[in-house]
Amino acid sequence: MKLFNIPFAIGLCIDDMGWRLCRNDKAVGGPPRLHGTEDPRPEFYKGIVEMAKNCGVRVQGSFIMSEFDKNNICAKPCYNKPEAPIDITEKGLNWTNEVSEEDSQIMDYVKEENAYLEFGLHGVRHGHFEGGKFHESEWANRPFRDEKDKIIGEEKNVLPWDKENKTNEVIADCYTELIRQYFTEEELSFPETFAPPHHALYYNKNDKFTTGNCLGKRGVKYANSKLTGTLKLECDAPRYGVVDCGMHLVDRRTLRRSSCGRAAENPLYFPRPVPWIETHFINFWYRESEWSHYLFNINKRKHRMLGKNTEQIHSQFVYNKFARIYNLPGKIIIDTTRVPDEIYENNLLSALVLKVKLKWNEHVETVEGATLTCYYKDQFGYSYLTLGSNEEMGRLPKGKFVIKYKVSKNKPKVYVDNAYSTFNVYNLTVNDSEVVLKLKNYGTQTIRMKCFEPKKIDSDLNILNTYYAEGFLYITLKSKSMNGDTGEVVIRK
Ligand SMILES: [Zn+2]
Repeated sequence: MKLFNIPFAIGLCIDDMGWRLCRNDKAVGGPPRLHGTEDPRPEFYKGIVEMAKNCGVRVQGSFIMSEFDKNNICAKPCYNKPEAPIDITEKGLNWTNEVSEEDSQIMDYVKEENAYLEFGLHGVRHGHFEGGKFHESEWANRPFRDEKDKIIGEEKNVLPWDKENKTNEVIADCYTELIRQYFTEEELSFPETFAPPHHALYYNKNDKFTTGNCLGKRGVKYANSKLTGTLKLECDAPRYGVVDCGMHLVDRRTLRRSSCGRAAENPLYFPRPVPWIETHFINFWYRESEWSHYLFNINKRKHRMLGKNTEQIHSQFVYNKFARIYNLPGKIIIDTTRVPDEIYENNLLSALVLKVKLKWNEHVETVEGATLTCYYKDQFGYSYLTLGSNEEMGRLPKGKFVIKYKVSKNKPKVYVDNAYSTFNVYNLTVNDSEVVLKLKNYGTQTIRMKCFEPKKIDSDLNILNTYYAEGFLYITLKSKSMNGDTGEVVIRK
């Protein structure tokens, strides 16, 4: 009997991308920035993308945007006192900023490499500026803390800046205007993911005006922050996450500069799994291969996997927490009846990934009772199966499913090999005359798919080119939206 499990997916969130300067200006009322000696260069962005390509993942970048302000948007009266409740930067109405041609190219590059680097929201300037006073947090107030981020006294709450979210709305409006200099509404109306500066995010199940309320309605679906020991939430959020106005908030761990080396040598570094590893942009500079090694090693553990993208990581977190899997000879039973309704209502669940250890010459050849869409085997001998459906985002509906499987020396007849890709395949239907693939694609990347040699391929997605070689069909897609394009590819005989 083979032992399939629902692996806990872990992703990488890189905080504080988007700074153009490195120095810490806290002492003079400015932002903390990157705590280093060297300003970020375009090569460091390339290093992140190469690392992600090597690992076959789309890492989450968490972007600060004030230093990419080409048109001095941050100086506008609507974002500063007295018109606004805060000054959006330490300079207020006197803000000036210059963006060079080379800096502008960084944003072009980020747009181009969307398949491997997600553009996520961090903040405008990493802080709250009021009457010359600076707080390191931007989207909520974390009082009662000393310089070293230690809680002083009993208070563990994170508080809103004002009772009706006026401050957050101003920050979010400014962020929208800043990104509009580089992305059209169609390309990026607003980021889909969020990591708050200084772990400051306000949540209260009895209050309508939370951080999630401001950001959820603008399109943020996924958020990660340090929940354990940071937020006093009246629920078990660190373990199970929270859905706040459509925004799924989960826990993360921070790795500091010294931790990477230690972690890279020891994949058991995490005492318990959290869905997101977070660390700062500067920690990757000149150390990309060390990080690739570290990320790859996440797969070494039976019950964990290196998550391919944010949507999959959050979805897999939910399955891992709420669904049950039972292994029987030749079949498995999956029970999703305990997945909360709000997860379904807010479309937070996608296709399910299962992990199983097989012998070196063994594969899962067929699956009955579910749709096998993607399949690959990693260097540690683990196979990863994606089970999709014709439901929203390929999710499993609520219920109990009996899934029969056959292990043999053969691979499945038709499947997508997604070992090095970052899209999400939602469904795969095969009949006598055609194969239909439903997926959400990010950026420019190639589908590698085992199937017949087609006569014709149709799609509502943008296909750049296709070719067929040695039993595999290759389709290169280019998507427009930074949050991914969903569509169908019809492969005809
Ligand atoms: Zn930060």
